[in-house]
Amino acid sequence: MADEIETHGPEDVYSRNLAQGVFALQTCEDCRATVFPPKLWCSACESERLSWAPCSGEGVVYSCTTVRATEKGQRPYNVSLIELDVGVRMMSTIVGILPDDVRIGARVTARVEASDGAGRVVFDPIQTEEA
Ligand SMILES: [Zn+2]
Repeated sequence: MADEIETHGPEDVYSRNLAQGVFALQTCEDCRATVFPPKLWCSACESERLSWAPCSGEGVVYSCTTVRATEKGQRPYNVSLIELDVGVRMMSTIVGILPDDVRIGARVTARVEASDGAGRVVFDPIQTEEA
């Protein structure tokens, strides 16, 4: 009989949600803190009562770096630290904008890029109404 070892660790749940195009984060049911990266207990109060919920994904650019091409033909891209409105920070890439145009403090929103059974979170700039 095959010993099917199936892990349901929080990293696993996170990846599987992404693969289905869903950006979900854990929320602590005791102190309501959002927990990221995925954990077995709340980083604020150590409660194990965490639940998953889709995240709006809106936040601001906390820091950004442009990564220059290392190979011929490769375009520069940015690596940014995004501070989500729910209070957690995550490393990602801002797409749909030139890397050098990414500004600290700019509003961004998460989007899941899913392909080949895996997903990753990237961020799009939010167009502001200002003229
Ligand atoms: Zn908590």
